[in-house]
Amino acid sequence: MGEYTTFECRACGYKAERVRWGVSVNDPRQRCMPAYCVECGTIREVDLTGADLMVDEFDCPDCGSQLFFLEKAASYTCPKCKAHDMRLIQGDYW
Ligand SMILES: [Zn+2]
Ligand SMILES: [Zn+2]
Repeated sequence: MGEYTTFECRACGYKAERVRWGVSVNDPRQRCMPAYCVECGTIREVDLTGADLMVDEFDCPDCGSQLFFLEKAASYTCPKCKAHDMRLIQGDYW
């Protein structure tokens, strides 16, 4: 099930924009995942709806560098300050 997810760094206060994570409740074809852009130092949403499963590389629309998907993990690395102290806030289903 997909949830609206927000990442917040306890160390530097960075707060990512709300991203969709998982598979849509309303339309199981819709899939989204959060990913890091190392260059921009941000977490952003990648829309995987209709994406070719053979393609697992996605580029940042702002700077064009490769995005790295976030896996579900015990701790997340802040893209700004690199602290392993990000809070994961999950909200409504989408
Ligand atoms: Zn931080
Ligand atoms: Zn970027």
